[in-house]
Amino acid sequence: MPSYKYSVYSSTKRNGSGRRNGGGGQRSGGGGKRRGEYIDPARLVRVAKPVTENVYVPVNKFSDFAVDQRILDNLTAKGYVSPSAIQDQTIPLALEGKDVIGLANTGTGKTAAFAVPVLDRLINDPKSNALIVAPTRELAQQIEEECRSIAKGSGLNGALLIGGTSMGPQLRDLRFNPRIVIGTPGRIKDHLERRTLNLANFNLVVLDEVDRMLDMGFVNDVTELLRELAQPRQSFFFSATMDPRVEGLIRTFATEPVTVAVKTGDTSENVHQDIVRFSGTGDKMTKLHDILLSPEVTKVIVFDETQRNVERLGQELLSRGFKADTIHGGKSQGQRQRALDSFKTGRTNILVATDVAARGIDVSDISHVLNYTMPQSYMDYVHRIGRAGRAGKIGYAVTFVGHN
Ligand code: AMP
Repeated sequence: MPSYKYSVYSSTKRNGSGRRNGGGGQRSGGGGKRRGEYIDPARLVRVAKPVTENVYVPVNKFSDFAVDQRILDNLTAKGYVSPSAIQDQTIPLALEGKDVIGLANTGTGKTAAFAVPVLDRLINDPKSNALIVAPTRELAQQIEEECRSIAKGSGLNGALLIGGTSMGPQLRDLRFNPRIVIGTPGRIKDHLERRTLNLANFNLVVLDEVDRMLDMGFVNDVTELLRELAQPRQSFFFSATMDPRVEGLIRTFATEPVTVAVKTGDTSENVHQDIVRFSGTGDKMTKLHDILLSPEVTKVIVFDETQRNVERLGQELLSRGFKADTIHGGKSQGQRQRALDSFKTGRTNILVATDVAARGIDVSDISHVLNYTMPQSYMDYVHRIGRAGRAGKIGYAVTFVGHN
């Protein structure tokens, strides 16, 4: 692990002389014309706490769970040796039929925490069907991959209903009466309205990342979906945070839920946080260029504000010889997936992203998060920097702050 040189990026000693200006020349550099909450730059400078090996000692072994042998074999094949905290505590409650509220974020193993009991129920009870709702296409896809690998060989069929992809394959999958439907709220609602999906026999429901779903304005869509489901049913609500909105939604739809809270710590504790001051667009681009050249910057997400700016910055970095790609809502699902795959496999090591497109991205070895533009809120900031410092590693976050 590289040792961190505190404030390495804050110094103004690099003047970037000889480098040409970039970034398109139209941006003010984001220093002071933000629309969102004011974030005091002092909050963006922190030394990461040393990563304490947070060894969770599970009460159960996977083999203690009375679930289908194929599921257990698939978990072994995936290399899951023992349950993570959220799995250890959620799976027994779920197998008892309880509604569960899981307070856990990405990286805790929350997907398998609901996938194992849900898939087991589907295997054992041919009348059961499950709906899993996620806020973003990427997260829905990741859940689908996880479910597919855990249910391998069981014969269960599913449908992935996400926006940005053509309707054809989804309509085909729906004609086969999928036992498990995974998707984003908008597209699921779309299918309900077209009557290509009927949820009346869906008695298992998972809402993943409820807080993000509400942040993204899906509250009405989600409420409508939940009303379409069978009664009685078993519900799982996962959220990184609990606030009155999340609580309100859960209270309306859950029956005597049991809460499992997994203290992962604020993920940002694992992240060294620093700022870099810039004056003007050219200086900003130069500083970004310099940071990207640092040897410790191995895999990085660069956050920028709009689809257009993300695209422009991606092009600029490409023209400077960096292995960069972009991800934003203006790209088709296929393009987004390709960008993500290239980033995961290391064909590119810089992903320029908007906040929304970056949500749910689960790439474990991101070394740096660069906030080329300030996030709209401190909450967004925490979500952004949580992309680094995964899997017990120290991550680095650098936020560009304009000289006022
Ligand atoms: P999640 O929080 O569900 O996105 O999972 C985070 C990562 O942990 C994923 O890459 C999973 O494949 C992995 N994972 C989940 N459960 C376990 C487990 N029990 N043992 C090892 N890895 C796991």
